[in-house]
Amino acid sequence: IHPTAARRPHAITVQSENTLYTEEHITAKFFNRGSSVSVSDGHFTITPTVQPYEFQTKRTVGKTGLMMIGVGGNNGTTLCATILANRHNITWHTKQGIQQPNYIGSLLRASTVRIGTEPTTGHDVHVPISDVLPMVHPNDLVLGGWDISGLRMDKAMERAQVLDYDLQRQVAPHMALLGAPLPSIYYPDFIAANQEARADNVLPGTDKQAHLDQIRADIRKFKADNSLDRVVVFWTANTERYSDVLPGVNDTADHILAAIKASHAEVSPSSLFAVAAILEGEPFVNGAPQNTFVPGVIALAERHSSFIGGDDLKSGQTKLKSVLAEFLVNAGIKPLSIASYNHLGNNDGHNLSAERQFRSKEISKSSVVDDMVDANRLLYKAPGEGEKGKGEHPDHIVVIKYVPAVGDSKRAIDEYYSEIFCGGRSTINIFNECEDSLLATPLILDLAILTELLTRVQYRKLPVNDAPAPGFAPLYPVLSLLSYMLKAPLVKPGTEVVNSLNRQRNALESFLKACIGIEGSSDLLLETRIW
Ligand code: NAD
Repeated sequence: IHPTAARRPHAITVQSENTLYTEEHITAKFFNRGSSVSVSDGHFTITPTVQPYEFQTKRTVGKTGLMMIGVGGNNGTTLCATILANRHNITWHTKQGIQQPNYIGSLLRASTVRIGTEPTTGHDVHVPISDVLPMVHPNDLVLGGWDISGLRMDKAMERAQVLDYDLQRQVAPHMALLGAPLPSIYYPDFIAANQEARADNVLPGTDKQAHLDQIRADIRKFKADNSLDRVVVFWTANTERYSDVLPGVNDTADHILAAIKASHAEVSPSSLFAVAAILEGEPFVNGAPQNTFVPGVIALAERHSSFIGGDDLKSGQTKLKSVLAEFLVNAGIKPLSIASYNHLGNNDGHNLSAERQFRSKEISKSSVVDDMVDANRLLYKAPGEGEKGKGEHPDHIVVIKYVPAVGDSKRAIDEYYSEIFCGGRSTINIFNECEDSLLATPLILDLAILTELLTRVQYRKLPVNDAPAPGFAPLYPVLSLLSYMLKAPLVKPGTEVVNSLNRQRNALESFLKACIGIEGSSDLLLETRIW
């Protein structure tokens, strides 16, 4: 993960009739194996299924830009400063000694996957995930974006109070070169009133169509000025209140375009940014919890085959919850309540101290155990059963408090209270203290890099008979493969959300491997079980 060690030619070659390398593409055949289950009178009949697909990945990683909305905030400045520190190999003194820049916390740059075994020793072989397919290196991302606060980036980093002084001191001249953020869209109704003091860099007027046109022009200019092939547009601005989903306003693609033209009050800044990116054909990721992706925005993304992903970065408490709740339920233990409390003192915490913005976060944090509960009807009664037919679900509460003194260092307490064998009870308490923005920044990188990669992957379903194969097509616009990094993953409408962190990682790993034509690594390890 040392920056200079990381940029090397594609490190893996698959030797197989199913994988074809050309100058331009890696094309791989993949057999999607599943089971179709029918239920009748409590009896399950299972039919194994197999469907061949082909994935085609463009090998050249284009020059990629990352435009962040909220670039002057804690996440935005921390991301820019740490990339610059890596790019320029800036080391800094801390009280523990000399610190090297790195990408620890990034799934792609700091974790590995098992790709098979070495035949003579039988030992597992692991490679960095970023070696599986050609991906943009974070050091190469071209940085830019918008903020309602016009503070220059070096000063904004100072305001954030996240990084060590010695790093800030050395990286400041590089940050200054990024200049000030572009003026942004500010509708006071959507973020907390306490943010008003920073809003000194805003697009004039209240004409939402004019605002949309300006953001589209900003994306185009940034792309042209930097000769970019791709720009990932990323919301890491403050959490907005939920938008009301209103028939005729934001429920269809045409309605939301008309609502923007009419400057309708329920069109939020984040939805406007999403629409701008979609219309420019650039991907948009939402790192905050609000419902940016109202049905009309999703429909517009479908219409333009433009990629979107969200919602809300899954940095700490929720990530652990998605592991621990699954562990308990899969161990046959029954969580009765999960009580999550946290306090933080950064600007995000200040914004979340307002009721409507807290509500967005509460919703995003709440659904994380739903699929685990639904998967185990031995422990939890299904909807339609139980008292008043309401089914069963653990009590789940989320509290967030703003305590300025602790700054960016978030403290979280989670209590898992569970029923165990024959009426017994178990209580697990977890106390976690962590710098919020240093957890979030690597996730933004992973999301941007993966998103860029997924724009280069196409697929086709191969016919099982002699029919001619169709042409290659892009993936479905809602990138649910990003779920690992997101608290409330947006998925294809009508499909189920997977919250389990392990399943999310497996999905990603299997997908990347499928793109080079290797089957998802099986933990069956049959060779270790037989003679
Ligand atoms: P922050 O308050 O430090 O930064 C947000 C920035 O957005 C500020 O500079 C603000 O001026 C700007 N802003 C607000 N409205 C804007 C608009 N309409 N256009 C452009 N800029 C605007 O917050 P942060 O700690 O960087 O977090 C950013 C977002 O990420 C928040 O919504 C937060 O809930 C979400 N998030 C953070 C974490 C984490 O661990 N840090 C985890 C999950 C989600």
